Amino acid sequence: MSAESSPPPPQSTSQSLIDSGIAAEKAGETAASGRTAGGGRPHLLGLTRIELADRAVEWGFARVHAASLWNELYLQGRRAPSEFRPHDRMPARFLERVFSECDFDFPGVSRETHSADGFTRKYLLGLRDAHRIETVLMRYSGRTTACVSSQVGCAMGCVFCATGQMGYTRHLTAAEIVAQALHVDRVLRATSESDPQVGGAAPALAEPDHPSPHHRHERLRNIVFMGMGEPLHNYDAVMQAIDILRDSAGLALGAQKISVSTVGVVPGIRRLAAEKRPVYLAVSLHGATQEERAALVPAARKWKLDELMDACREYTATLGRRIFFEWTLIEGKNDGPEHAHAVGALLKDIPAQVNLIPLNPTFGYDGKPTRPAGARGFQDVLATYGIPCTVRQRRGIDIAAGCGQLAVAG
Ligand code: SAH
Ligand code: SF4
Repeated sequence: MSAESSPPPPQSTSQSLIDSGIAAEKAGETAASGRTAGGGRPHLLGLTRIELADRAVEWGFARVHAASLWNELYLQGRRAPSEFRPHDRMPARFLERVFSECDFDFPGVSRETHSADGFTRKYLLGLRDAHRIETVLMRYSGRTTACVSSQVGCAMGCVFCATGQMGYTRHLTAAEIVAQALHVDRVLRATSESDPQVGGAAPALAEPDHPSPHHRHERLRNIVFMGMGEPLHNYDAVMQAIDILRDSAGLALGAQKISVSTVGVVPGIRRLAAEKRPVYLAVSLHGATQEERAALVPAARKWKLDELMDACREYTATLGRRIFFEWTLIEGKNDGPEHAHAVGALLKDIPAQVNLIPLNPTFGYDGKPTRPAGARGFQDVLATYGIPCTVRQRRGIDIAAGCGQLAVAG
């Protein structure tokens, strides 16, 4: 864990915190998408291209000015109002209006940490209201991935997770989520030629079956909502950010390159299905009975296992897409063959893939990770049910950038 990691946690997070976090959201205390925390002005990075063009028209300008501005934001990588140069398609009057009506700033990098193998980088980012979040750049198996945060802290209180141990502070805005992706994209572009492990040339440690692409200018290709926070608890801002990141005139991330991981917020899963959102869904399971799951994941008391499985079936039936189920493997707790059989039985009628994550260390939980042989045994049992199952590589643990390790001090 980094020095910024959370202090020993209150062990009594859970239902009251989950309810109070959700109540705060309902009371409108948290930021709406497209707006900065606590402010009424829109943030440029929180607007879709269409919304930006609509604003331009409202202000009496042609849509083409907005298209030029979008290009400067997402393709030229402008980072401050002073970096925009007026020209025919983006006159000074237009820029003046934009910056008088909208916020435009980026979180500052308070700290950058690199893993010893060079494949993981973690950024501590400072938000406008002095709260901080962590964002992780992963580059292995020939993939460039940003692991982004969706909240400051988390209300869900999973016992083994450093973010949950911090408690909930607030939702991120869409702009704050987009800014994390832009930050990682910029790092990749800037370092692609100078740093072979983060950039273009094939890294020495790349897996041989996934040769690294030889892009001279590496770009961000994948996003996982597996950083700090529960993305489906901040649904509107997360989906707004995804719409912006997918825009083909911007970062142009493929929908199949975006994964949203949820602790099991049932209304959010149903909404993803109803809106036919074209992203991958990962559901954190960790227990295959209501009782065992609720002991690790307090949110399971609000959204019961039966209800969760119904929502998952509805999701796969509506979208014709499988769900990834995550299972943190804790030695002696949920890693025996009987647990694997229970998972197999639970998922037998759902198109599923299981990702096993050997427990990463956090200050607030003293369980141990399952050893490799135990993880293989779990996989073998799931194979008998025909369920594909992978074991997540343990990367970035030395800089506390692994699953569930992200946290910042007050
Ligand atoms: N809030 C979302 C996404 C963030 S956590 C969710 O819970 O799904 C991403 C994954 O890391 C989840 O599957 C989570 O259960 C898992 N995780 C949390 N703490 C962990 C730890 N200490 N070791 C291993 N996995 C952990
Ligand atoms: Fe929140 Fe996910 Fe951590 Fe649970 S595992 S506390 S839902 S971030």
